[in-house]
Amino acid sequence: MVMLQRCILKRILQQFYPGNQESTKCLLSRFPTALLDGHGAVGHRSKSSLPDVVREQTLIAVKPDGVQRRLVGQIIQRFEQRGFKLVGLKMLQVSEDLLSQHYCEMRTKPFYPRLLHYMTSGPVVVMVWEGHKVVETSRMMVGHTNPAEAQAGTVRGDFSHHISRNVVHASDSLEGAQREIQLWFQRKELLNWDCCDQTNTYEA
Ligand code: ADP
Repeated sequence: MVMLQRCILKRILQQFYPGNQESTKCLLSRFPTALLDGHGAVGHRSKSSLPDVVREQTLIAVKPDGVQRRLVGQIIQRFEQRGFKLVGLKMLQVSEDLLSQHYCEMRTKPFYPRLLHYMTSGPVVVMVWEGHKVVETSRMMVGHTNPAEAQAGTVRGDFSHHISRNVVHASDSLEGAQREIQLWFQRKELLNWDCCDQTNTYEA
């Protein structure tokens, strides 16, 4: 199927660049794999030309307070500006079951019932961002768990002041990120695509 799609696209490109095989080849290779492959094959990672060092991924979620306060756009903008690549995005009303898996280490905390109530009080916007050291950098961008201690310039430091409403979640380690991404996203929901400006955001 993919071969057939590539053939058709090649024919179309040849109409625009008659006799110029190089242009056709170049444009074909830049065409997002996800669009060619269709839904079932997106998320295949072996097809990207990117080195592993810039393919680290993390899970970022705008919590219900962030969505209610219309902060989604500003939070996305910060990650885009930093040069990270969005590879997955969805809005959902989270189930208690998913949350209890997500916050499994919090189950014994006194605030856990309130945390579940808060996190299920409205929709969340959950994302997967990709890039060099994205886990560590995102944690810095998001700031201290307690907004009262978060630096100005961080998401929590700029948009919140109480630990019970800290606007955003960011995975805290590589292992945590992998676990959370698998929990929140199906493989086919993550897109494998190349940013056209990638040579300007890192050195290969
Ligand atoms: P982080 O979200 O920064 O990784 P934790 O994993 O320690 O922090 O906590 C998970 C979430 O639990 C926090 O983001 C916050 O929403 C909530 N939380 C943590 N501590 C408290 C607390 N003392 N009171 C209320 N909610 C809390």
